Amino acid sequence: MPMKFECSTCKQSYLHPYTQDNHHYPACPSWQQAGLLQGIAETEDLIHHPIQFLSSYVRMLKSAHPEAS
Ligand SMILES: [Zn+2]
Repeated sequence: MPMKFECSTCKQSYLHPYTQDNHHYPACPSWQQAGLLQGIAETEDLIHHPIQFLSSYVRMLKSAHPEAS
């Protein structure tokens, strides 16, 4: 399950996969500043912010596998 972060600058939530060898906070997709950890993304979050989460999730996948796009 991806982790949920909230950017304090643009008040957006975004997702990032949790990996054990990546301990730094991920940057906001639009601001490039690290957001605050909100916990694990839950189904409720996906329902309330489907587009936002989907777009950040796609961005996350592309950055994780740039050769696949
Ligand atoms: Zn932001």
